[in-house]
Amino acid sequence: MGWNPMPVRAACWALLGTLFAGAAVAAGPATTAPAADSFPMATGVRLGGDETQTRFVMDLDRRIDLRVFTLADPYRVVLDIPEVTFQLLPQAGESGRGLIKAFRFGLVMPGGSRMVFDLTKPVRVDKAFVVDPADDAPARLVLDLVATDRDSFMRQVALDQKAASTAPPPSQPQGQSSDPRPLIVLDPGHGGLDTGAKASSGELEKDIVLDVAKRLRARLEKSGKYRVLMTRTDDTFVALADRVEIARKAGAALFVSIHADSLPHKEGDAQGATVYTLSETASDPQAAQLAEEENRADVIAGVDLTNEPDDVAGILLDLAQRETKTYSMQFAHKLVAELKGAARLHKDPIKSAGFRVLRAPDVPSVLVELGYVSNKQDLQSLLSDTWRDHTAEAMGQAIDDYFSARIAGANSSAN
Ligand SMILES: [Zn+2]
Repeated sequence: MGWNPMPVRAACWALLGTLFAGAAVAAGPATTAPAADSFPMATGVRLGGDETQTRFVMDLDRRIDLRVFTLADPYRVVLDIPEVTFQLLPQAGESGRGLIKAFRFGLVMPGGSRMVFDLTKPVRVDKAFVVDPADDAPARLVLDLVATDRDSFMRQVALDQKAASTAPPPSQPQGQSSDPRPLIVLDPGHGGLDTGAKASSGELEKDIVLDVAKRLRARLEKSGKYRVLMTRTDDTFVALADRVEIARKAGAALFVSIHADSLPHKEGDAQGATVYTLSETASDPQAAQLAEEENRADVIAGVDLTNEPDDVAGILLDLAQRETKTYSMQFAHKLVAELKGAARLHKDPIKSAGFRVLRAPDVPSVLVELGYVSNKQDLQSLLSDTWRDHTAEAMGQAIDDYFSARIAGANSSAN
């Protein structure tokens, strides 16, 4: 493939500060956000080249700014751009060419989109720029990659991290409230460019679980007994550590992460809802595999994990977690008892594994897999309005049971 010189304008690299100064939590409708159709629109993508040099081109209806950085293990190139409406084929990015194995795109925060390129080997970003629209040509985003060695790639990763660390830290999510009602944090899994499990008919886990979470929020708010916060309220990616931090900083009394599972065809069929709590050793190999799969969310969305402290190390934390673990288990049992009346349960409905999203040492946390999008009957349920309402009601009832038991327990121990 030829590398014809194109009219180039240097990309603006100053965008990072403004783009990433926003809050990590998507709370409520943004009143200043422009209508969806006023966002720049991406209308097509092309890949060219081979294993030594690869070019990615994306057509846009106008010029945008971009920032590019690299991540290692696995090798990735990440493009941060302003919020873009991606009018691309649903399968765009599922396969690649040359140095690009596959790529993903979507919202990572209100106002910010991201593209993550999985690489077949280490690369050097030769060029990354946007060509202005001409008379009969759209604007084009161009990313040129050239094969390099691991050492060179790792040096670039280090430089990219240094550049990123000078950006202002994200602002804090909302703080403690004077409202004495317990705060429930609902955590719809995935979002944005991380779609989660995908049904063969195209439905996405991220959409299903967001809808169920919203129904549960409505159920809880209607009772008047709780404050409710969601880690995301729209199709935005939220990093796993941020989900935990949102719950901790807001002083959550309970954290409920909502997912829907999928089993690869070759591994047979599985069905029903499962409730997971945290453990360092998984209850069975399937639970371990699922946790690994769910923990990949950050890798999928191009989150840099190198600076994240390992906040689960140490025996002190283990002691602090003991009470939390007991409460998490109590809630898991109540949830399974209530779900029994609304949803099909997995044959082994309470399990545990090392889910990153359950690692708040001070917030009782469970992760519920509502069912398998890979199972025909489960999928039918997951897509049914009635089933979602019943399931949200059952989860709400379990939360009621859990808190009335805790209040009763507190009263009897005070006597
Ligand atoms: Zn999931």
